[in-house]
Amino acid sequence: MKSSNLGYPRIGEKREWKKALEAYWSGKLEEEAFHAELKAIRLRNLKKQKEQGIDCIPVGDFSYYDHILDTATMFGIVPGRFGYEGGKPDLQTYYAMARGTREATACAMTKWFNTNYHYIVPELEDRQPQLTANRPLEAYREAKTELGIEGRPVIVGLYTFLKLSKGYTAEELESWIDRLLPLYGQVLRELETEGVEWVQIDEPILVTTLDQDEMKLVARIYDKLAKEAPGVKLLLQTYFEAVDYYKEVVALPVHGIGLDFVHDGGRNLKAVRELGFPSDKVLGAGLIDGRGVWRADLTEILETLNKLAEKVPADHIFVQPSCSLLHVPVSAAQEQGLEPTLREALAFAGEKLEEVALLAKGAHSGPDAIRSELDTSARSRQTLQQSPSRNRRQVHERMTELASQPSTRQGNVQTRREAHQKRWNLPLLPTTTIGSFPQTPEIRSSRQKWRKGEWSDAQYETFIQEQIKTWIGLQAELGLDVFVHGEFERNDMVEFFGEKLAGFAFTANGWVQSYGSRCVKPPIIYGDVEFTAPMTVTETVYAQSLTAAPVKGMLTGPVTILNWSFVRDDKSREEVAYQIALALRDEVEALEASGIGMIQVDEPAIREGLPLKREQGQQYLDWTVRAFRLCTSTVKDETQIHTHMCYSDFHNIIDSISALDADVISIETSRSHGELIESFEAYTYDKGIGLGVFDIHSPRVPQVEEIGLMIDRALRVLAPDQFWINPDCGLKTRKYEETIASLRNMVQATEQAREKY
Ligand code: GLN
Ligand code: ZN
Repeated sequence: MKSSNLGYPRIGEKREWKKALEAYWSGKLEEEAFHAELKAIRLRNLKKQKEQGIDCIPVGDFSYYDHILDTATMFGIVPGRFGYEGGKPDLQTYYAMARGTREATACAMTKWFNTNYHYIVPELEDRQPQLTANRPLEAYREAKTELGIEGRPVIVGLYTFLKLSKGYTAEELESWIDRLLPLYGQVLRELETEGVEWVQIDEPILVTTLDQDEMKLVARIYDKLAKEAPGVKLLLQTYFEAVDYYKEVVALPVHGIGLDFVHDGGRNLKAVRELGFPSDKVLGAGLIDGRGVWRADLTEILETLNKLAEKVPADHIFVQPSCSLLHVPVSAAQEQGLEPTLREALAFAGEKLEEVALLAKGAHSGPDAIRSELDTSARSRQTLQQSPSRNRRQVHERMTELASQPSTRQGNVQTRREAHQKRWNLPLLPTTTIGSFPQTPEIRSSRQKWRKGEWSDAQYETFIQEQIKTWIGLQAELGLDVFVHGEFERNDMVEFFGEKLAGFAFTANGWVQSYGSRCVKPPIIYGDVEFTAPMTVTETVYAQSLTAAPVKGMLTGPVTILNWSFVRDDKSREEVAYQIALALRDEVEALEASGIGMIQVDEPAIREGLPLKREQGQQYLDWTVRAFRLCTSTVKDETQIHTHMCYSDFHNIIDSISALDADVISIETSRSHGELIESFEAYTYDKGIGLGVFDIHSPRVPQVEEIGLMIDRALRVLAPDQFWINPDCGLKTRKYEETIASLRNMVQATEQAREKY
């Protein structure tokens, strides 16, 4: 049994990769030095995998930005607007596609399946693609000559690549397959000539919901590719879910099939056990969670391996992570600041590869050969499991009473609306903002000073209060109807709450790549989540004390907190969401009790957590809606609950959005050029709604007329008495002047609209 890896984090232990990219972009690093720096990082990554005893080490998974962009540029798929004229695109063109230039807008970027990694969307134009460089081959040669590593080149599979691309119609799909097939063939032939044994072809698209015709296309692709280079062995790799067409997939003419046995809901294992596995193929057994941060239950995995071994001979199994380790931080060994109980239960990329190697050894020489490591691992999991952080009595009690926890508001939408009108008597088309105002360098540096202890709590609080006061004044001057306090005290909408709720931990170095050089450091939800003390009451109440206008309280919702964190693996995500919801409910109630009448619970991440399988979508939506409602349903009718979502495709999920039962929802709309409005066309939405009237991602100040057009457009579909006027999202990334000018125009456009409707 061999140990194998599917991909390694690019960013380096100290985010050297990010720093190199940014230094190069800003002109501080010359191109040559940049290449040298990236090569050093790449080789270090490979060396580490070798030292950890991994038999099959992936090469070519490293990137200068994103592996889909690499694949597109390798095939010369570069949009004409970048002035490309064929040949190998240079580094400037590569980064122009990723980041845009003054002349040409960047290619779109979107989420990689259900992860928080974003890839650059290839744009197919009617030009013949060409092989401009054999990247997998270059990577293979480098690993071999520099380190003596016989690597396994990784490429993105043809079908996945096409399905993630845009710029073609359904009818053109097959012709694009035919255009790309020879190029894939050439890549493989050259690898074959080089003497490469295995090639990993990633086809994660095979775990999404495909129809039978699509599966036939996949079979056609691999029939063809198998003939191109019969001398290389193809490992067809899937991940993130179970494959639906198990029989067809394992029958493809390749030498190995990689399956995810962690995120498959048990279905891949069931399929292997019930339907068997071809005797001439290798099974890439994804047994170590490539997306979570926890040590594995190795004893249980050894049992799974035994079950697999009933169907697949041991020498036909690769033990591997469930997917590329791109999605986890580099090394938990660095986290010396964490409580030992927690730290020892963590496994980041480095620790995961140790587990992979250990399992391969255990499977080969029997569990006794790895007994002491098994014991240590089991002990660390148990210690965390038994720790007080996972045994908070009150949380458990509340969870056992979940069925009787209220998740329905007292009054219906209409009664609530009347109560709100009576309470505030807001004008038609009320104006508001989404929560944050500019986070200026001054604000950030004050927070730093406070964190470092250079500023006292009192000093920092006074500073935050001054900001709030300034902006309450500005909102009054601008003539907005519903105010916010401005979120000056928050650096990040999840971290802020995580730091105040029990059950969360923050790493020093737990970074993962989100897109390009941007890395995020998700909190780790390791214990029971519990409310300990009010989190937002002081600032909100202070803001409200300065004005007669309603000030909206501002919280991040349970599902967003969940989806933007690493989550404990001993409970379902659903249960953890309910724990967070109940903790946040205490905050909602505390705000209400302090006289705050409007409370916004942001849920920008609901949509992105949708399962990859269509048939599981509704179940997910049902529990996310329930979590939101557990959090927001105990307030009085007079209290108005708001929610906010960034841009998402609301098609098909609008029922669930409505089921959140928020009195008012605001959604990012301008960026999608009003497309979203169409989703509401055929739907009777009966609550308050604000479809963003200007883009907050751009420094451009929208003109009154444009905003007026956005309002008109929305009011063709929605009733004036349900419509709210707000920007797309929070304004924290904007400059002061832009913010004021944009909001002034927004208010003016609203006043004009009020005359009309
Ligand atoms: N209230 C948050 C803000 O205004 C919402 C951010 C978001 O939707 N991502 O910044
Ligand atoms: Zn938003």
